[in-house]
Amino acid sequence: MNTLTTVLGYPRIGPRRELKHALETYWRTGDQDALEATGRRLREETWQQLQGLDSVPGNTFSYYDQMLDHVQLFGLTPARFRQLGLSPLDTYFAMARGRDDVAPLELTKWFDTNYHYLVPELDGTTTFGLEPEKLLGELAEARALGVELRPVLIGPLTFLLLSKATTPDLNVLTLLEPLLDQYVELLAVLDQAGASWVQLDEPALAQDRTPAELDALLRAYDRLTAAPDRPNLLVATYFGDPGGALPVLAATAIEALAVDLVSAPGLVRRIAELPSLRRKTVYAGVVDGRNVWRTRLGDAVSTCTDLRAVVGRLGISTSCSLLHVPYDLEVEDELDPAVGDRLAFARQKVDEVVLLGRAINEDYGVLVDLERVKRRLPNESDLLRDQAVRERVAGVRPEDRQRVPYEERRTAQQALGLPALATTTIGSFPQTADVRRIRTDLRAGRITRPEHDERLRTEIRRAIELQEELGLDVLVHGEPERNDMVQYFAERLDGFATTRLGWVQSYGSRCVRPPILHGDVSRPGPITVGWTSYAQSLTDRPVKGMLTGPVTILAWSFVRDDQPLATTADQVALALRDEVADLVTAGSRVVQVDEPALRELLPLREADRKAYLDWSVGAFRLATGGAPAAVQVHTHLCYSEFGAVITGIDGLDADVTTIEAARSRMEVLGDLGSIGFRRGVGPGVYDIHSPRVPSTDEVRALIRAALAVVPADRLWINPDCGLKTRDWPEVRDSLRNLVSATREVRATL
Ligand code: GLN
Ligand code: ZN
Repeated sequence: MNTLTTVLGYPRIGPRRELKHALETYWRTGDQDALEATGRRLREETWQQLQGLDSVPGNTFSYYDQMLDHVQLFGLTPARFRQLGLSPLDTYFAMARGRDDVAPLELTKWFDTNYHYLVPELDGTTTFGLEPEKLLGELAEARALGVELRPVLIGPLTFLLLSKATTPDLNVLTLLEPLLDQYVELLAVLDQAGASWVQLDEPALAQDRTPAELDALLRAYDRLTAAPDRPNLLVATYFGDPGGALPVLAATAIEALAVDLVSAPGLVRRIAELPSLRRKTVYAGVVDGRNVWRTRLGDAVSTCTDLRAVVGRLGISTSCSLLHVPYDLEVEDELDPAVGDRLAFARQKVDEVVLLGRAINEDYGVLVDLERVKRRLPNESDLLRDQAVRERVAGVRPEDRQRVPYEERRTAQQALGLPALATTTIGSFPQTADVRRIRTDLRAGRITRPEHDERLRTEIRRAIELQEELGLDVLVHGEPERNDMVQYFAERLDGFATTRLGWVQSYGSRCVRPPILHGDVSRPGPITVGWTSYAQSLTDRPVKGMLTGPVTILAWSFVRDDQPLATTADQVALALRDEVADLVTAGSRVVQVDEPALRELLPLREADRKAYLDWSVGAFRLATGGAPAAVQVHTHLCYSEFGAVITGIDGLDADVTTIEAARSRMEVLGDLGSIGFRRGVGPGVYDIHSPRVPSTDEVRALIRAALAVVPADRLWINPDCGLKTRDWPEVRDSLRNLVSATREVRATL
């Protein structure tokens, strides 16, 4: 039987971020026709690009987020949004972004990626419905173009496990049966509409699952496969080995299973031991959906051949959705060819899948030759090796990762003269169109370097003046020179390449352009010192030097896959260590090293976590370990549910840790309390993801809640995250309320 080809999903933001621009226009003007036209165009383009595949995934498009789409699909819009009386589309965006008077759904990381989804809310009174119009509309739209889609849905188990129970003690699994009623109904509707396959994504199976959850999985797929009218079912597991879920799924009557052989190559052997898979199609995810290196085609062919011998029918696919890689390498005309030759983006990965299918069905030889010519392994190129860097990493001693004890540092840092409940921000100030224009004008040659620098200094002055006027205690320069917190450093370090249009969706309309870490990393010269010292020269209050940490630089880059991440992280850490030293020499008394992605890279399975925390925490400590006792080291983490990394956060040994907390109403403090966290902590008192200005009352209540757990002299008052996505008036009002709430509480201490 012929081998089938597909991909598990595709980017949707548009090759030139068309969707982002259309969304922003819609939010400004309310022109729904224009937004829908852009959506239609992007879907069509995608289907065209996927034409060469045997099966084309559908429902990969979303105006904001696929989980949020399922909230509407299953009639789960919470009452606070329904009451607004908005159109379905505006209700959808209200859930995503909040309104003046209504908080949005929680936003959180999608597994260990840098994609964020909106968290569905479930409670004891939840009832499910079914609103399949979006799905049906898309099927019809594709059919009119002669394309048959395989709609992609989140599977029922993953959907429930990723949802949040808003009533205490609600076990979300108790909602499985009523939710399955809707899935059964939906399958019938899709069958009726002519879909012959449906893909159900169950990435939650790459995490540790309890016996009760595996039992729920079995019940779910027994029930779905028993549905009277239904398309064939492909269950996609990805981001890791599905562990105990593999035999469970194999035992159900699903027609096909997709496995991620990039993150879990050992699966081939486990699959061979499951005779029931000899009656099913198994898609081999051999093309990496999360990284940008070309597939080692020869290896992939042999993996596929091994797999083909032990399954009913072989499919070839990507390891996961291509949502996590940029669209097209072809447009990157400025990339060094030595780097470019080693890369494949979404389009090229589709070509790889097609090619692999051809090689297996028709002719291996072609491929093997191609492989020999094209794929140069990273460590085979001299371009990548920097002997000095390698020797320095090899020479790192344990004491390089160790500062003097916290209490000693605390005493030394009293010289900063900070009050109880010290106020600060996380680093960036609004990246307005004007600020971005400073950089684009320079790039386009419309202004000279000195003009560019002067305009940035004006921005910095404005940020410092505002902070002084508002009365913040530790100031920031505002980061106007940075396009992105990782790319900025990547552009100034050796060993990285950056792309022109390599955008990847982070959440909603927000995209990032991950740099490509392709070789040994080093710092040719100081990076941030000039801007920071300029800002410090304008004020007597301490200005924080602002760096991005090694783990985050790795997490938000596409990283070489030829050596352990730990080694690469230490290379980056040493470059940052030199930057910290230069900042201190130039007079910085506070330095912040952001690690918002520390949790993001956390392995999904418990068993792999200790090793990860050892190297990641070690890299942060290598970056900061050279700071003298009197220099206050801050770190910032962008999320609040960090149960699993809590010991890691403690291990960072930062003097002050700022974290996200407003949306989850300070729940995080309980976790910190439970491990006896003793250093400074700044749980964010307002959510910067929404344009809403928090009231003084609201902030005061959160400060009081935090004071119940953290003593005033260790509690910092700050927003949840950087302010770059906000406007100046919002920032001014929000920070004014933050400072006045702090002062009111301070007066009562
Ligand atoms: N210092 C960065 C900023 O304020 C931190 C951003 C982040 O945590 N993602 O923009
Ligand atoms: Zn943040």
